[in-house]
Amino acid sequence: MTSPLLAHVDLQAIRDNVALLTDRAGAAAVMAMVKADGYGHGAVPAARAALAGGATWLGVARQSEALQLRAAGITVPVLLVITAPGEAHEEAIAAGIDLIAGSVGIVQEIAGAAKEAGRAARVHLKADTGMSRGGAGQGEWPAVVDAALTAQASGLIEVVGLSSHFACADEPDHPSVPRQLAGFLEAVEFAEKAGVRPEVRHLANSAAMLTRPESHFDLVRPGIAIYGLSPAPQLGTFGLRPAMTLVARVAMAKRVPGGSGVSYGHSYTTARETRLALVPAGYADGVPRHGSNTLEVLAAGKRRRIAGRVCMDQFVIDLGEDEIEPGDEVILFGPGDHGEPTAQEWADAIGTISYEIVTRIGARVPRAYEGLGTEERGSPGGPRRLD
Ligand SMILES: *Cc1c(COP(=O)(O)O)cnc(C)c1O
Repeated sequence: MTSPLLAHVDLQAIRDNVALLTDRAGAAAVMAMVKADGYGHGAVPAARAALAGGATWLGVARQSEALQLRAAGITVPVLLVITAPGEAHEEAIAAGIDLIAGSVGIVQEIAGAAKEAGRAARVHLKADTGMSRGGAGQGEWPAVVDAALTAQASGLIEVVGLSSHFACADEPDHPSVPRQLAGFLEAVEFAEKAGVRPEVRHLANSAAMLTRPESHFDLVRPGIAIYGLSPAPQLGTFGLRPAMTLVARVAMAKRVPGGSGVSYGHSYTTARETRLALVPAGYADGVPRHGSNTLEVLAAGKRRRIAGRVCMDQFVIDLGEDEIEPGDEVILFGPGDHGEPTAQEWADAIGTISYEIVTRIGARVPRAYEGLGTEERGSPGGPRRLD
């Protein structure tokens, strides 16, 4: 544990959060979203912890992420939620990855790749019910359903899912939420009347699954909540426990006179003679530069504000009269057990969301996994549902 900066990841917390979500999901299955390296927590360990907690599906956003899960021996259904045109879809199909299609062009591209792979592609059709991001709009939906049924009749694809995504589920009273629900019901009804027999209909992200049981359908897709962060912080924590604690070790400490300018640009000046400590964590590690002179950390038993600019590899804190030694721990954020800020507090302080705080913790920061017994780690989880 000598790394100057370490992200501790509590796999027991991920498992417990997913168990809580699985309970809240009722009859619906749970797809744990582990895209973006498991929101910064590590995709494979997060996936295993989520499967141990009751998830039976996984979701990712890049083909490389899907293949990484398969390479780790994880065999449960994996949905790739963005199908990028021109990509080698046959590799995903050969690995038994489920693909999203929201346009006739993508349905046809997937069908062509399935021919190459020599195996039917498992496809989830996506309707745009009001987010205006991915998915087929109302006007294009009939053509997408038709193209999918044609490809299915040729044995090239199997339509296993019907899906959509909420724009404002984190504001449960937003009028778009019931509108999107109604739009999804219409899209499902249309597809089913046309002859689609989906294995799963799915719509809900973390916020929707926690605030709108009528959005659960057959499968829910929580992401941020499995990592213990609230999808709708104004409504509380929902009993979730943050899984990541970011800990640095003081690189050096020294006394400086009053009136000393600190860090680039001298945007902080010491008020009097004081002790400064150098914390080896910077924007290359994911500490937002926006947090200069703003974000707090826990050091020597108290909250301290970052003094001056966050640099690429380090920042400075001002200890005043307090003692701190090189090697002492500084907690940047965590679950709050020791009085440290949470990722949510960091997000609030700089006008972003907790998602961005944890996801941007950089690749050079080692992750230390804790809290899930080796017997759970050994089993990639879940019954084999493909092939
Ligand atoms: C990322 C993602 C989710 C999870 O969203 P959270 O707000 O993190 O729960 C669900 N569905 C899709 C399609 C996504 O891309």
